[in-house]
Amino acid sequence: MKTFANANAHDLQQAVTLVQQTRQDGRAASFVGGGSDLLALVKERIVAPDVLVNLKTIKGLDQVTLTGGDATGMTIGGLITLDALSRHPVVRRQYAVLAEAAETVATPQIRNVGTLAGNVCQRPWCWYFRNGFPCLKNGGNTCFSAAGENQFHAIFGGGPSHIVHPSDTAVALVALDARFRVVGPTGERVVPAAEFFILPQQDARRENVLGPEEALAEIQVPSARPGTRSTYHKVMDREAWTHAVVSTAIVLEMDKQICRNARIVLGGVAPIPWRLPHVERMLAGQRITETLAAKAAEAALEGAKPLARNAYKVPLTRGVIHRTLLALAART
Ligand SMILES: Cc1cc2nc3c(=O)[nH]c(=O)nc-3n(C[C@H](O)[C@H](O)[C@H](O)COP(=O)(O)OP(=O)(O)OC[C@H]3O[C@@H](n4cnc5c(N)ncnc54)[C@H](O)[C@@H]3O)c2cc1C
Repeated sequence: MKTFANANAHDLQQAVTLVQQTRQDGRAASFVGGGSDLLALVKERIVAPDVLVNLKTIKGLDQVTLTGGDATGMTIGGLITLDALSRHPVVRRQYAVLAEAAETVATPQIRNVGTLAGNVCQRPWCWYFRNGFPCLKNGGNTCFSAAGENQFHAIFGGGPSHIVHPSDTAVALVALDARFRVVGPTGERVVPAAEFFILPQQDARRENVLGPEEALAEIQVPSARPGTRSTYHKVMDREAWTHAVVSTAIVLEMDKQICRNARIVLGGVAPIPWRLPHVERMLAGQRITETLAAKAAEAALEGAKPLARNAYKVPLTRGVIHRTLLALAART
């Protein structure tokens, strides 16, 4: 493993400046939260920073704050651990989909150190990338999964890279219509979650819009409208400690038996959290019956392009949407 220096940041602006100065000196720098992803990449020599800028020393960035007085929304500091997020009483009560997504991540040990920002910004877990193949993500010009071992790869939005986005919380945050506050050397900007993640067609080397000197500071979640209920369902190839093969985050705004609005996002099937606006429109203003849920699940898979070894994801995803939708609509 290459040696590196550690720099503890006192605030985000200082963190950003440290990264900028290191890069201006011709050296590489990375932000680090819990380090559970980054240090594995350093050990495997996939990335080689000279300086790690430690964000965990920034005070107050690990809090959940209710904004606008009477709970009109919530701001979550990017440095909150996944464990703290999953246990937070307001998150559990009003934004169950996010608490449920956070508690499905990895293991208790990883959830204790892993941060929300780090989870959202983690690099792909494609075995070609992680094993140092000269693939698109590693600076090469080939995606080896296209004709190789693609059991866990994308069925939507793939090409030229076919990775799936690995973060469970990202799927929930898109479903909640969250916004990401990003801080960089020239100021800050707020990016809707759905625009934060980018497809490989846009840039095959990156998974999101962050520039190399920008940090994800916090996440703003709008208030839950009356009648809103939500859930996260994840299918894994073993009982625990692994990423989603397929997952879905569903948020329904219900008026008695009628669905006023729906947001449905898939995980494990695309290089970004994959939203299904055409399915959401099918549900708006309707009673969610067995028949409608089946039609919605069928429509959800329109346009899927499985690779040679992952066609099983098509019926699996259909089943996950069908069951999760019906169960959530039936909840009182
Ligand atoms: C065995 C195993 C199983 C796993 N299973 C799952 C799973 O089921 N679901 C899932 O979602 N994840 C899973 N993960 C990934 C795990 O959740 C991540 O490692 C963790 O969430 C990353 O958080 P961290 O704070 O440790 O990030 P770090 O390792 O500190 O950082 C991760 C990346 O994000 C960047 N980064 C960190 N913070 C910021 C910031 N504020 N702004 C900009 N960039 C930043 C870093 O530079 C780095 O590139 C698994 C990991 C392992 C090792």
